[in-house]
Amino acid sequence: MKTYLRMTRTLSALVLALFLIAACATAPTPIPGSPTSSPITPTSTLIPPTAIPTPSSTIVASPTASVTPMPRTSTPTPPTAIPIIARKDERGFSILETAHAIIFAQPGISDNRAQDVGKQFEIAYQIIATDLAPAEQRPHLYVYRSEDELFQDLTTTWKYDTWFTIARAYPRMNRDYIAWIPPLPRGDIAFITHEYTHRIIEQIAGINSQINYKWFDEGLAEYAGLQALAQQSAGEAQAKRQEQIDLVARAQKTNALIRFRELTTEDQFRKMIERDWRLAYAQSSVAVDYLIAQFGIAQIKNVLGVIRTGSGFPDAFQKVYGFTVDEFEKRFFEHIAKLDRASDAATCFTIDGQAGDWQKLKPLIVDTIYAPIARAADVREVFAVTCNGALYLLIAVDGNASADERIAYAFEVDTNGDEIPEFQPGFDRARAWVWNLKGTGYADLKQNMLELTDRDFRLAIGQVIEFMLPLRLIDNAARPRIRVYTFVSGQMANRRTAWGTVAPLE
Ligand SMILES: [Zn+2]
Repeated sequence: MKTYLRMTRTLSALVLALFLIAACATAPTPIPGSPTSSPITPTSTLIPPTAIPTPSSTIVASPTASVTPMPRTSTPTPPTAIPIIARKDERGFSILETAHAIIFAQPGISDNRAQDVGKQFEIAYQIIATDLAPAEQRPHLYVYRSEDELFQDLTTTWKYDTWFTIARAYPRMNRDYIAWIPPLPRGDIAFITHEYTHRIIEQIAGINSQINYKWFDEGLAEYAGLQALAQQSAGEAQAKRQEQIDLVARAQKTNALIRFRELTTEDQFRKMIERDWRLAYAQSSVAVDYLIAQFGIAQIKNVLGVIRTGSGFPDAFQKVYGFTVDEFEKRFFEHIAKLDRASDAATCFTIDGQAGDWQKLKPLIVDTIYAPIARAADVREVFAVTCNGALYLLIAVDGNASADERIAYAFEVDTNGDEIPEFQPGFDRARAWVWNLKGTGYADLKQNMLELTDRDFRLAIGQVIEFMLPLRLIDNAARPRIRVYTFVSGQMANRRTAWGTVAPLE
């Protein structure tokens, strides 16, 4: 235990964004009066998850200003007004009722904050009710104004082991559907959804049953958390998912992926957490995401249902999917290996700003119209193909592409052929980004923007512009349609080219 705690503290210092994933890790769920053995879940201080770096305001302003408002694909439902009930519990916590939960706000918590938690829970509730099951009891969410007071209260009021206070570990939603919410405005929704998912998993499969299928349990909680986060900020959810994929892909490269048979029981999960807890969570999360992408969420629920009838996890898994966990693991590891190849350096074209290796191809778009406004760089021809999990793009402009350093480039991506773009990637010499337009339909709110890291893309601006973007950043679209434009910071964008459909390289 001592060794572990020391390690936990060391880890804690490193952990920011993933703290909420770990929060409920392997913590047993004590109920008042019956503390269980010490949990081992590390967590960190209450620092909000690292925000997506924001490009300088001029850069953000340009793609934003240039966007033609597009019809929304669906009208978002306005958040339901939550009545505030001016009622307090015996300890002075204000009580707010939402449609499916009761929020208890510690004195000092603003109405807004309490209502936000309520709204976030309702989003979680809708996702989980649709994907898994509605709650059989109305959850109680206790919202705290400070981490210290939360941890203090866990031991004094809720009778949790003092280990929670020492290790700064959050228990998962307990069997009475009670959860404790720290002051984390930005991370709330993923945290709340994650912890609530654990409870619904137990509701379906049996209380504490997940100690025998931890990777599946944590992966599913994480999947749901990201689904909910995506409703609040598509860009932030995408960035978090990408972080996990990167981590798993790196582990694949160094043969560090964890065998699922070593990540199944709670004890095993603890050991893996001690070794590399980020990887334990990321791999669980990416694996469940892959299972759901391949076979749907209903099968996940079916596995839990079979466990409920008394089957062990490996049997339940095989019964539902028709293959064993080992067979799944083989398939999953191969999938990760492919992802990794796709994110490797440009393998289909040399990204060097020269058109040489494109010459056998025909241009996708030929643009003969002179740009009527803000003539940043007039697009002449666009070449684009998909190859090895990435989209390769060549833009030939009027003159030398590297002549004017102020110019930025962007293209719209229509993944489903309705001529309404779902994504809007862009780049200049210093950075690249992808706007996710699926939420509001506008490249407006910064949280809808994913700032790409050097690992995500390849770019060269020379005689021509060459750009490589992994297809996973645009929903793995098989034959995306694109149209291109250029702009200069602070000015309106040029007219877009016509649409062109990008085909795989033969
Ligand atoms: Zn968890």
